[in-house]
Amino acid sequence: MTPVATPKGVAVLGSTGSIGTTALRVLDRQRERFRVTALTANSNASLLREQARKFSPSFVGMVETQTDADDAWKSGSEALVSAATRDDVDIVLNAIVGAAGLDATLAALHGGKRVALANKETLVIAGDLVREACVTGAGEVVPVDSEHSAILQCITGHPTSQVRRVVLTASGGPFRDWSDDRLASATVEDALRHPTWRMGRKITIDSATLANKALEVIEAHFLFGLPYDRIDVVVHPQSVVHSFVEFIDGSVLAQMSVPTMELPVLYALTYPERVPDQGVPAFDPVKLSPMTYEPVNHERFPALRLGIAAGMAGGAAPAVFNAANECAVAAFLAGRIRFPDIARAIGSALDTLGSTPARTRDELLGADAAARRHVKEKFGC
Ligand code: NAD
Ligand code: MG
Repeated sequence: MTPVATPKGVAVLGSTGSIGTTALRVLDRQRERFRVTALTANSNASLLREQARKFSPSFVGMVETQTDADDAWKSGSEALVSAATRDDVDIVLNAIVGAAGLDATLAALHGGKRVALANKETLVIAGDLVREACVTGAGEVVPVDSEHSAILQCITGHPTSQVRRVVLTASGGPFRDWSDDRLASATVEDALRHPTWRMGRKITIDSATLANKALEVIEAHFLFGLPYDRIDVVVHPQSVVHSFVEFIDGSVLAQMSVPTMELPVLYALTYPERVPDQGVPAFDPVKLSPMTYEPVNHERFPALRLGIAAGMAGGAAPAVFNAANECAVAAFLAGRIRFPDIARAIGSALDTLGSTPARTRDELLGADAAARRHVKEKFGC
């Protein structure tokens, strides 16, 4: 008789967000394989309560103190590390947005867990520390980001030495065809109208500036150990091909599906296995055609080049890039700065702070704080 495997315990950090709710839909279908043992959110007590009722986790955390929170819930940002390091947690699905996700990732890896990582900002701020934590703690990072999941699916079974380069696809966002004049007066509503993906507000703005693709280039560098000159970006407006891997013999593999995050979430949980699931609508190449490609317009979207340069510079630069972007995006969403000011704020923070050396967590978070102060002072964010 084949023994029945015990379901793996999963902590979903950021369970009330776009990726968090997507992950819970996947986990609901996969109850034989996975059990939700911890949930955390920043706010939105009513949704968190509904999720807790449905999945009965042994730990619930809400970072902000809210009057309608349950007494049994843990509060404060320490709740994230507590959830990520519990004995009944095998996999930490980190779906927190921004730098707030860093400590939970590091703690989980030090504790030997698998981190299914949507929170790409973690790798951008502290890629070297994440890699060290994987070695010392015997944890592992498996990407949830669709481009990196695609690359992982294509390279699994092949050493990195056989990879000539990877090509990340980018939808181009809602402003792909806009003139510079029109971009200068783009509204928040315009920027939130993403052509192919429904996501949280911060990543939707990052997709409109292409800062998201810069974060993803840095993410790919750390995940796959590839130098920056072997990571390229191409615009593919339909978001069906999630990335390409070109091998040393010239062969190119791509991974495709209709745009849905359910597939990369599931793969990050089950990797390297594949399991039956109903989350992805049927693939119909005729309906999905044409699939087109075009080069990135770097003049129109300077945030991409700024981010790649920050990744190549190393030290504090990627953390400065990330923090300046987070701050400027929040200011744009609040109506305090215009769309092109986001890239200007990033450029200004990098000019001033980008060559600071930084290695440790505290140094990197110091650079993060300095970049936020800089953007606030210069741009009134
Ligand atoms: P979201 O804004 O929809 O959700 C964010 C979640 O994090 C919420 O549950 C929120 O309560 C929680 N959170 C926010 N601030 C927090 C804090 N300070 N401390 C603790 N928890 C906090 O964001 P999202 O779109 O789900 O994105 C989450 C992450 O996944 C981001 O890093 C994003 O870049 C990445 N990602 C998202 C998608 C997508 O399709 N949405 C795709 C690829 C990668
Ligand atoms: Mg992505």
